[in-house]
Amino acid sequence: MKFYPPSCPYSACSSQGAAPFQYQRKGRYRRKCDGRLIPRFLCGVCGRQFSSQTFRFTFRYRRPNLRLQLFQLLTAKVTMRQAARILGCSRDTVDRLHRKMGRICREYHQIHLQVNRGRVVGTFQLDELETFETHRLARPVTVPVLIERRSYFVLHTEAAPMGPRGRLNPAAQKRKDTDEALYGKRRSGSRQAVKRTLKLLREVLPEDQPLNLQTDRKSTYRSLAREIFQGCLGSHVRESSRRRRDYRNVLFPINHTLAMMRDGISRLVRRSWGASKQRERLEDHMAIWVAYRNYVRGITVVAPQTTPAMSLGIMDKPADACEILAWRWPKQMTPRPAKQARF
Ligand SMILES: [Zn+2]
Repeated sequence: MKFYPPSCPYSACSSQGAAPFQYQRKGRYRRKCDGRLIPRFLCGVCGRQFSSQTFRFTFRYRRPNLRLQLFQLLTAKVTMRQAARILGCSRDTVDRLHRKMGRICREYHQIHLQVNRGRVVGTFQLDELETFETHRLARPVTVPVLIERRSYFVLHTEAAPMGPRGRLNPAAQKRKDTDEALYGKRRSGSRQAVKRTLKLLREVLPEDQPLNLQTDRKSTYRSLAREIFQGCLGSHVRESSRRRRDYRNVLFPINHTLAMMRDGISRLVRRSWGASKQRERLEDHMAIWVAYRNYVRGITVVAPQTTPAMSLGIMDKPADACEILAWRWPKQMTPRPAKQARF
C-alpha cells in the first residue's frame, strides 16, 4: 500500500496543523533488519527529510517483531520479567515497550470510541475490580470496568487509589505511616474514577438514547448515574453481589470480563509475585489487554472470528497486533490518505 505522510514528523516544524501538507517524494532506501524498501520524503516547509519508517512504531528498532511477541505474552498472563527471559531481551526493553504499547493501545481504542461517538448502543454493565500497588493492605487500588453487555466490548478501565484497609498488621501499618509522611493521606479515588467512567459513557451514547445500566448494589453507582444521566436514565438494574455468580446471574458478562482480566493480565493474578508496583503501569497493561480483548480476540472460543468490536458494530473484521501497533502516533495516522501536494 502506498504511504502518504499526514504531516511533518518533527514537532518543531511550522507546517504542523497547516493543510494541505507540502512534501516531495525523495527516493527509497533498503531497511537493514529485513531488506524492505522504505520511501523517503522531503518536508516542503522545514526542508528536513524523513521516511515512512519515521511514523512507524518500529522506528529505529533492531527487532521490530519484538512488540508483536510481547503483545501475545502480556495478554497471556506472562509477567514482564518472564517475558524478558522468553524473548531474550533485557528487562529495560520490556519495560520501555510496555509503556509505549500501553500508550499506543490506549490511543487506538480512543480513536475507535471517538469515531463512533453517539453511535454506541446497548445495555451497559459496570463493576470494580480490586487490586493493589506494591502493598495489598496499605495501598489498595480499585479498577472500574465498563462493558457493553451483549458484545462484551470493554469501553473503559482505569486504576484509582483506595484508602488503606481497616485493620493493618504491623508491617502494613509501618508502610502506611511512611507513605503518609511522604505523600500525605491516601484517599479513595473510587468515586471520581466511576464518575469519569460514566461521563465517558455519556459521550459515546446517542443523545436521545436512555441509558440502560446494570451494576451491583453499591450506592455510589445509583447516585452518580442519576447525577450524570439525569433525565436519560432509562433503567438501572441492581443485582446483589451475594447472588451466585453463574451464567444465570444478570451480571454474568461483567463478572466474566473481570475473571478474564485476572486470567490474562499477569499483575492481576491473585497471590502472585508479579503484582503491580505502580498503578500507572497497571493502566498501561490494561490498555494492552483491552485492545486485545476488543479488537483481536473473539468474544468466545465458539465464535473466534467475531470480536466484541464487530459485535458492537464498530468494526467489520478482527484486527491483529500488527495493525494495532503499527504507528508511533495512531491519532495522527488514522485519517484517510491526503493527496500529494506539488511545490
Ligand atoms: Zn517539516
